[in-house]
Amino acid sequence: MPSLFPALTDGPAADRPALRFGERSLTYGELAAAAGAVAAGLGRARRVAVWAAPAPETAVAVTAALLAGVAVVPLNPGSGGKELGHILSDSAPDLVLAGPGEELPAPLGALPRLDVDPAAGAPGALPDDRARDEGDPALIVYTSGTTGPPKGAVLPRRALAATLDALADAWGWTGEDVLVHGLPLFHVHGLVLGTLGPLRRGGSVRHLGRFTTGGVARELNDGATMLFGVPTMYHRIAEALPADPELVRALAGARLLVSGSAALPVHDHERITAATGRRVVERYGMTETLMNTSVRADGEARPGTVGVPLPGVELRLVEEDGSPVAAYDGETVGEIQVRGPNLFTAYLNRPDATAAAFTADGWFRTGDMAVRDPDGHVRIVGRKATDLIKSGGYKIGAGEVENALLEHPGVREAAVTGEPDADLGERIVAWVVPADPQAPPGLEELAGHVARRLAPHKRPRVVHHLDALPRNDMGKIMKRALRRG
Ligand code: ATP
Ligand code: MG
Repeated sequence: MPSLFPALTDGPAADRPALRFGERSLTYGELAAAAGAVAAGLGRARRVAVWAAPAPETAVAVTAALLAGVAVVPLNPGSGGKELGHILSDSAPDLVLAGPGEELPAPLGALPRLDVDPAAGAPGALPDDRARDEGDPALIVYTSGTTGPPKGAVLPRRALAATLDALADAWGWTGEDVLVHGLPLFHVHGLVLGTLGPLRRGGSVRHLGRFTTGGVARELNDGATMLFGVPTMYHRIAEALPADPELVRALAGARLLVSGSAALPVHDHERITAATGRRVVERYGMTETLMNTSVRADGEARPGTVGVPLPGVELRLVEEDGSPVAAYDGETVGEIQVRGPNLFTAYLNRPDATAAAFTADGWFRTGDMAVRDPDGHVRIVGRKATDLIKSGGYKIGAGEVENALLEHPGVREAAVTGEPDADLGERIVAWVVPADPQAPPGLEELAGHVARRLAPHKRPRVVHHLDALPRNDMGKIMKRALRRG
């Protein structure tokens, strides 16, 4: 198949900027030289772990391995020993790649190490990846562990190429784009979309290290064109906008603002639009499938929807018995199933989980529940396992109730779960971080608020007040932790 990174392997783009992390930056020529040096050190490795710190070393290591046809397991530098131990014994890498200055924790001690030096290397030493098969494993990425222990999804080269090219089509994404990036590099969002994406297009990426609204304003006002973020970042942006004219100017001038990894609350989206005149483009994906849907840059960004299936992606909503839902009427909830070149091939060492994840005719069961508007826009209502509440004969999506709660001025953050109820089957439970801890809104107030906005049967029956919601490193709410109390 064609190279994953034509701008590196056959581009005359040696002087173009590729990466910037704080004070450290690399052109395409420097990246190609450094990646060539790393590739030369890979020897006979078939699979390597990469210490995925937010640094140029990570980008160099991953591009080198992918061009050499060696599969990459990105490691979260913030993981505890137990989690790292699990990933290492599950994935059994031949080597670990890290910056020379990194002190690696104990579970990595037994692995041979290859130091990655972005300043090393000579031009012309890059391996040619065009001889590689499209089905060869490129990345083994562990899922976020939101609903259970992380599983290693084996992603073939074909999936990376397909998803990045489909996004280029949907977003008008080109080599002229300069991305502002503040996400970790060990998940799909920050690594595949935010790092490999710009490199495949021949554009550039500026990583903020740590996300701040000040950093976003500075970069977008200094020539960057796109921002990729998770909803917690857009929440912070929405909170900061009223008092920050530089941030308003930055967002108003950006070519594209993209949100994903979790649902963008409608309230935050609307506040951003009110302050800047801009819509946020929402896209929906998973570790296992890379990207499935997106709002198109030239299409309508309807708050609360994740857009339409990307080119090449087939998507359907099914009932519990596997039959397609009766109608795309904006009301009928079904599980999202997808098929296409963007899919993973298997969960590593988990044949049972892999078999259970696919239908006989090759559709992947996402576990996410959604409705579709009559014109095809997908609205995710939540996850089958944690977000679908069956109460009083109705199926209620947690997301809808969360969006309504967030419109209450006394609510800063909200999560909704179900718990067993003798009468209703399940009752709706709201976990609320109050805007003012001295005056938290009570059950009667919030139940009335939701009943007026949605329908009486969607009102919470129990309200818990918390100082903060439990979230993982992508800002996803860990509902398992809420339920345990
Ligand atoms: P695990 O599979 O280990 O429980 P996880 O599902 O959170 O963790 P990821 O693969 O990182 O791991 O996340 C994919 C999930 O994130 C999707 O299945 C979906 O539930 C959610 N998601 C991603 N983008 C969106 C979005 N735009 N709106 C709503 N949910 C989203
Ligand atoms: Mg998942």
